Amino acid sequence: MLINGTNETNNTKTTYWDKENHLFGPPAYRCRLCRGVFSKPEKICPKCHARVIAKKDDPVWVDEISVIDSIFDD
Ligand SMILES: [Zn+2]
Repeated sequence: MLINGTNETNNTKTTYWDKENHLFGPPAYRCRLCRGVFSKPEKICPKCHARVIAKKDDPVWVDEISVIDSIFDD
């Protein structure tokens, strides 16, 4: 599927999630680039297809990923 030229290897856009905590309901993740809001912190933004990189000063994001990993690992 290289016809449209939008495969991941030539995608140089990067972004990261702003986590939004909600009192009633699960947290949401807002893309800094396109401001799309999603329920899960995907590695590629589903809307603008930017590659999502974690903020180095944001350990909460990393901790949540490791928790999810350990659940699936069980
Ligand atoms: Zn986006």
